[in-house]
Amino acid sequence: MNGNAQKALDILLEGNKNFVNGRSTAIHRTVDDLKSLQNGQSPIACVVTCSDSRVIPELIFDKGFGDIFVVRCAGAVIGENILESVEYAVEHLNVPLVMVLSHDDCGVMKAAKALYPKEPDHLELLIRSVYEIIDSETECYNELARDYTLVKKRKLLKRSKILRQAYHDGKFEIVRAYLKFDTGEVVIIED
Ligand SMILES: [Zn+2]
Repeated sequence: MNGNAQKALDILLEGNKNFVNGRSTAIHRTVDDLKSLQNGQSPIACVVTCSDSRVIPELIFDKGFGDIFVVRCAGAVIGENILESVEYAVEHLNVPLVMVLSHDDCGVMKAAKALYPKEPDHLELLIRSVYEIIDSETECYNELARDYTLVKKRKLLKRSKILRQAYHDGKFEIVRAYLKFDTGEVVIIED
């Protein structure tokens, strides 16, 4: 991992340690902090994650205004809007790190696991996307959520020429991570 990406990851994980240990600093959360950013932002990382109300990147990483460029949708399924949002973070905000973060008890993974292999009659796009990696051997939707981060990482690079180029030029790195609800810990998933 390049130096800038590693530094960003260290800052996020350090913040997560504060959160887990009940020692959040709640940094950068005042009106003055926001005021100081009125003309621009330079977040340290982009976090691509689920819309789940229990997954709040700024809280779990002990960060505030201007720190993290968050891209969210249910299940964090990679579609066009998500791709372009990540492109913006990499190309225009120059984030050195993109984290693909999944989590315990994800509703989209749960629904896909329950329905598979039936035709989804709701959440169609989201569930079909998860079906790409599910099979009858898949035992647990939390495991599915962890595995699915690899699909997301690959899709970011496969579907976006801009991201692919920037990745190959060493402009940014992608890490996969998982939020555990019982401890609040963010665990890095090794490739
Ligand atoms: Zn979710």
